[in-house]
Amino acid sequence: MMNARPLPSYLVQRYHGWRATTHAENKAWYRRLAEEGQRPRAMIISCCDSRIHVTSIFGADEGEFFIHRNIAGLVPPYAPDGDHHGTSAAVEYAVTVLKVANLLVVGHSNCGGVRGCHDMCAGLAPQLEEKTSFIGRWMDLLRPSYERQAGIADESERLRAMEKEAVLVSIENLMTFPFVQAAVEAESLTLHGLWNDIGEGVVECYDPETGRFMPV
Ligand SMILES: [Zn+2]
Repeated sequence: MMNARPLPSYLVQRYHGWRATTHAENKAWYRRLAEEGQRPRAMIISCCDSRIHVTSIFGADEGEFFIHRNIAGLVPPYAPDGDHHGTSAAVEYAVTVLKVANLLVVGHSNCGGVRGCHDMCAGLAPQLEEKTSFIGRWMDLLRPSYERQAGIADESERLRAMEKEAVLVSIENLMTFPFVQAAVEAESLTLHGLWNDIGEGVVECYDPETGRFMPV
């Protein structure tokens, strides 16, 4: 396998730094973590975007969050068709094996995935319409949202509305998984919809009473 190369030096240096400090100072804790296995209380589904740092925002240590990331942090509907479903597999493991108590879907401002969906639907990104575009076909999940938000004249407001709606679409899709629905109905699992404003450092949570995202 000649395509797998040694690590670049900047990563080697950072790793040795971590091992000499954080790991060295918490050796017993890491060992216990390895031996006892993981018991995360929450699952987090968020965008791959490198600016989204849920462990920082919630001050979480290793072992606390079961995290799945994909383009725009979307959850597809339940589709037991024998195909490769990475997101659905992560949800199944979190809910049926780890039995997490809370499942957070985290959307964010300036999301490139949502922007891609918006531009594709507006006819500005024909490459995403190609059958071979994995991004385009993934973002089809959010296509109905473009139609619903098309009435918003200001583009940045429209994008923001789509970013927030993406979170709700994912929660709606989560409920199509029988094991998620069963856990929610048994009150052993709660679902939460969040949206993170990167620049302002604000996290908003969807409030079912008002039907709006409110600052936490
Ligand atoms: Zn994103």
